[in-house]
Amino acid sequence: MQPPADGVLWVTFWGVRGSIPTAGPEYQATGGNTACVEIRCGAHVLLFDAGTGVRKAGIALAREGVTAFDIFLSHSHYDHIIGLPFFAPLFDPQAHGTIWSGHAPSVATTRGIVEELLRPPFFPASPTMFRASIAYKDFKAGDIIRPAAGIAIDTAQLDHPGGVIGYRVAFGGSAVAYLTDTGTRSEDANKAALRLADRADMVIYDCMYTEEEAPGRAEFGHSTWKQGAELCRTAKAKRLAMFHHAPDRDDAEVSALETAARSEFAGAFAAREGMQFSFSAKDELLGAVASPS
Ligand SMILES: [Zn+2]
Ligand SMILES: [Zn+2]
Repeated sequence: MQPPADGVLWVTFWGVRGSIPTAGPEYQATGGNTACVEIRCGAHVLLFDAGTGVRKAGIALAREGVTAFDIFLSHSHYDHIIGLPFFAPLFDPQAHGTIWSGHAPSVATTRGIVEELLRPPFFPASPTMFRASIAYKDFKAGDIIRPAAGIAIDTAQLDHPGGVIGYRVAFGGSAVAYLTDTGTRSEDANKAALRLADRADMVIYDCMYTEEEAPGRAEFGHSTWKQGAELCRTAKAKRLAMFHHAPDRDDAEVSALETAARSEFAGAFAAREGMQFSFSAKDELLGAVASPS
């Protein structure tokens, strides 16, 4: 499946887990890679987070011959950046890309985050190994980023230890919100999440915990499907993509939570690795993309 360069907004889930990758037959239908979502606006490739899922995204993009991309980090916890050195387009001398972040501007720059990740003794090489032309950009929560004509990305600080940015991508009359790693303790963050989710075609939301698991864990900055459903109902969003599944959540549990979420919000579904959607006048699920070997 190769999205055409038209006015359509595409969403592809390359990694849907939170915290740490997981493997095993009981997790296969959901997928075990950590956070990475491609949102393609016409021909323009935007990647949200670079968890282990970004490796497969890179293989697919390289095969397709894509040489331009923007990577937006929600924050710099390992599950959202660890895949970066395995993203094939970074090693293509013809490629050029921009890496963006804005969750903790007083603590770390985007360039600093990547340099810290890629240094001995944790990694054998530095970002100088990249062959692509890479720009590192920092922004402030609240900025609206326009990486290309017709694309507007609204940003806001949400509720997570060390900070996290929520994004809303608007293109061609469609809008998708990417709200991962966030709790609901901060009124400011709740208002921001509502603004980003407002009448969105899809809200990709942190549904890490069940209602039973959530009590006592508020300080970790994650949410439940009920909180996601409530946000989507209030925001009049069309779909809730349940995202950042806990590493121990097997396929049967994910399906059970999905069924429960649908009973409260009809547009809810569990994000699974390889799912692809397109949005234009009407949205449709395109099914799983071919898995690159
Ligand atoms: Zn995470
Ligand atoms: Zn996190």
